Amino acid sequence: MEYKEVSLPAVKSIALVAHDNKKQDLLAWCKKHRNDLQQHTLFATGTTGALIEKETALPINKLISGPLGGDQQIGALITEGKVDMLIFFWDPFEPMPHDPDVKALLRIAAVWNIPVACNQSSADFMVVSPLFNRESTHAVPDYDAYIAKRSSASR
Ligand code: PGA
Repeated sequence: MEYKEVSLPAVKSIALVAHDNKKQDLLAWCKKHRNDLQQHTLFATGTTGALIEKETALPINKLISGPLGGDQQIGALITEGKVDMLIFFWDPFEPMPHDPDVKALLRIAAVWNIPVACNQSSADFMVVSPLFNRESTHAVPDYDAYIAKRSSASR
């Protein structure tokens, strides 16, 4: 895979997702970091977003609920470069009906090399990073090079 450097803007699009047993943890984290979060554009799966919006008054772009496809919507936004960072408090103790979507979301976040936090400690580290509010660059797959390589291989 070839990579290219693209900018990660100062004002980021951050996706928030929490499984049911983790929603209160994510809500507490959002309350703790409300001032930092309000400087960014927020996305969330349906139920997570509704809860955070109600309890913190942070504006959230709410997608479909996770089990109905919300995780896949976030994955698509990552692929399109429209989500820059993922805070995903997934439940390590319960199997989910949409486990394949959970795995797919974490995979696509790895493919596109976006910062991901799956628990409070990691998410705390992310918020205090000097890069949280600053423009930076990160390496992403070079899709033009990828397509060129694949089409020459299929000839
Ligand atoms: P929810 O989805 O925010 O709609 O509960 C989260 C998930 O289970 O992926």
